[in-house]
Amino acid sequence: MIEISEEPTESAEALQLFRDSVRAFLRDEWVPQQSRWRAQHRPDADAWTRAGAVGLLLPDVPEIFGGGGGTFAHEAVVLEELARAGVAFGNTVQSVVAHYLLAYGTDEQKRAWLPRMARGDLVAAMAMTEPDAGSDLQGISTSARRDGDAYVIHGSKTFVTNGWHAGLICVVVKTTPGSRAPRSLSLIMVETERLAGYRVGRTLAKIGRQGQDTCELSFDDVRVPAANLLGGTEGAGFAQLMEQLPYERLSVAVSAAASAEEAVASTIQYTKERSAFGKPLFELQNTRFVLAQCHSDAQVGRAFVDRCVQRFVEGRLDPMEAAMAKYWLTDCEHRVADACLQLHGGYGYMDEYPIAHRWADSRVQRIYSGANELMKEIIAWSL
Ligand SMILES: Cc1cc2nc3c(=O)[nH]c(=O)nc-3n(C[C@H](O)[C@H](O)[C@H](O)COP(=O)(O)OP(=O)(O)OC[C@H]3O[C@@H](n4cnc5c(N)ncnc54)[C@H](O)[C@@H]3O)c2cc1C
Repeated sequence: MIEISEEPTESAEALQLFRDSVRAFLRDEWVPQQSRWRAQHRPDADAWTRAGAVGLLLPDVPEIFGGGGGTFAHEAVVLEELARAGVAFGNTVQSVVAHYLLAYGTDEQKRAWLPRMARGDLVAAMAMTEPDAGSDLQGISTSARRDGDAYVIHGSKTFVTNGWHAGLICVVVKTTPGSRAPRSLSLIMVETERLAGYRVGRTLAKIGRQGQDTCELSFDDVRVPAANLLGGTEGAGFAQLMEQLPYERLSVAVSAAASAEEAVASTIQYTKERSAFGKPLFELQNTRFVLAQCHSDAQVGRAFVDRCVQRFVEGRLDPMEAAMAKYWLTDCEHRVADACLQLHGGYGYMDEYPIAHRWADSRVQRIYSGANELMKEIIAWSL
């Protein structure tokens, strides 16, 4: 559990107070809503403003832009507590988009959007993936053509987290259609309110993370101001993505680490309470060995991810380390969740048992934010 006190404005004690408040909020307000969110395939709209009111959104964005003024250690607290509580929420994407704006937005864009995002009045999404191109980002076909003082965007995106509620979307487009060169990609910020040609398609039914919306989006000659080109230069998109993806990948790793720990803790409790053959399941040697292995995995992961968070806060985490953390922790999370589900027997497969959701929710962590096979490619480049 991350306890960084490097930053001058925050002590470990303040971080713990923040953790306590996030934990209490989730326990009292959101955990009881989970079956309803899952059934409707999205959080309630007012969940975003509630999240903003209690400081869950953009805790690591400067206060002058409405954020919490903390560091990634604060973001990690939110991610860990959501993972422990078993709540799937699109705050990671909200933070990821905020950091694109912080890094490449104009002062005017930051002032216009970040405070609203921190309050939860404006929900953000990141639209990279298309029906025919996911891992192969250079293969996307959504295009943006300059027309006077506007860009005209045409194409479709899929698997977009927060797509249903999104008022602001960072869209990856081709500004040099037909080219596969890295410099053919650009990022354009799209405000969706009353936007002609923009349509939210299906909310996709998933096997896990069902309380979080994942949508199809289409852009039919959508006009957005040319000033919404992030960074102001066409062709900078690929480099911007490469610079910012470690933030997203570390976020996924942080949540995976906490989820693995919680799976072990809850399974220890379950196996001590349930008996078979006249004694608690926990006293069977296999149960003890499996849990010993899962606990060791989770603790090894904890040590590495905490080190990565520390290095990120210090501005020293490189893309290879972020890829290692993302790949190893998410594989670990799913391996542990699967072993823990097994120890629950048939109950582990039942919707009313948290381990069932943890297992299903953990599966996709190995796929999004860059499939783990791609993470291995990135690691291998540095060998
Ligand atoms: C729940 C969910 C939420 C998501 N949220 C978002 C979002 O908010 N925004 C967004 O843009 N996208 C989002 N995605 C999309 C996600 O990032 C992609 O699914 C992912 O990048 C993989 O792309 P793909 O599905 O097209 O798989 P493909 O690219 O078709 O790859 C399929 C598989 O092939 C293998 N593979 C691919 N390339 C390589 C390679 N070079 N080397 C070795 N093996 C390889 C991997 O095993 C990979 O899993 C989300 C996806 C899901 C399921």
